[in-house]
Amino acid sequence: MIATLLPAMSVGTHLSCQRGTTVVHDYGHLLDKIPVLRVLLINDTREAQLAINGSYQITGSLTNIIDQGQGLQKSKIFITNGCINIGNKQYNNSEIRITGLRDGAIELNNIRYRGEIRIVQQFNNKFSVIEEVDLESFISGVLGSEMPPTWDEEALRAQAVTARTYVMYKKKVRGNEAYHLDMLDLAYRGMSSESPRLNKIVQDTKGVVMVYNWNIFPAYFHSTCGGHTEDVQSVFGKDSIPPLSGVMCNYCNNSKYSRWSTDINKSEIERRLGDAKVYVSNIYSIKAINLGAGKHGSRVEIVSANGSKEMNANDFRLMVGPNYLYSTAFDSKNNGKSITFSGRGWGHGVGLCQYGAQAMAEKGFQWTAILKHYYPKIELVRVY
Ligand SMILES: [Zn+2]
Repeated sequence: MIATLLPAMSVGTHLSCQRGTTVVHDYGHLLDKIPVLRVLLINDTREAQLAINGSYQITGSLTNIIDQGQGLQKSKIFITNGCINIGNKQYNNSEIRITGLRDGAIELNNIRYRGEIRIVQQFNNKFSVIEEVDLESFISGVLGSEMPPTWDEEALRAQAVTARTYVMYKKKVRGNEAYHLDMLDLAYRGMSSESPRLNKIVQDTKGVVMVYNWNIFPAYFHSTCGGHTEDVQSVFGKDSIPPLSGVMCNYCNNSKYSRWSTDINKSEIERRLGDAKVYVSNIYSIKAINLGAGKHGSRVEIVSANGSKEMNANDFRLMVGPNYLYSTAFDSKNNGKSITFSGRGWGHGVGLCQYGAQAMAEKGFQWTAILKHYYPKIELVRVY
């Protein structure tokens, strides 16, 4: 989308910063309206709870209105005989769309959403739910879930632009696919994590994204890098570009995840790996290897009774559990029944370091300077 945007003329809006001056190129005319995202809220389930506050209408896949009403008490969604059931109502459609009218909010499994939802039948009496929501409302629903909402507003603005860039990239890459984002991409809780303060912060940066060489890119971010962010190539195997190749970070030392140590039972590690169909027993050692610029392991080597096994380090961390093994920048020690991991940082280490961004904001850096630090050689562009 933005690849077609060539810098024929950059109409710069100068934003003065306490630390340096940064330009947000104003291409607000590029998109005539806020893009709409398709977000997979629930995948392939047999049952969900729906409630609607206010008036609503239900349309079939041909946009014909098949039902409307005023408020809906909490009702069960389920499939029988090829029909979609909501409470005691039955719709003989493979897919229906529910739209809250006049600010009516849709509540799905106790989370409120402001967009439209589509209930789409799958095989074996299962269904998925996809929300259609404008990008700015989506970012408002992400911001308070991805960063503590009480943090400095410059850090929150940097996070808003980071999330918007990531989302625009996903929308570009997934194009006409059934959905652009799922719940693994970003933490999102609809209207439930919004607040007037956060909505204003999103509004302050409305339509602003980062580009490198006038291309949108996957603006990864994480909690704490532990001293140096990591190269996207080493963590995700993607082509390295300057904004995602890793920078020094002298800002996240105060994060409680900057340095950590944790003891995990071998049997627990074996069980968790087994759940992901990686079978090891009697672990002898686990080593992070192929260290990147931020000293995060690109791979891990597990020596056990099954011999020596190598795997992608980030996959290993997610299998063991990101709330147990905080990062892949670790040393480890065999204690007999357990392994002690001592490491740095929380998360994959690529892109914005959130604790670092907060510390920069507290030191007086503005959001533009924070982004230029963590994503070198970017331009900031307003696209709508
Ligand atoms: Zn950091």
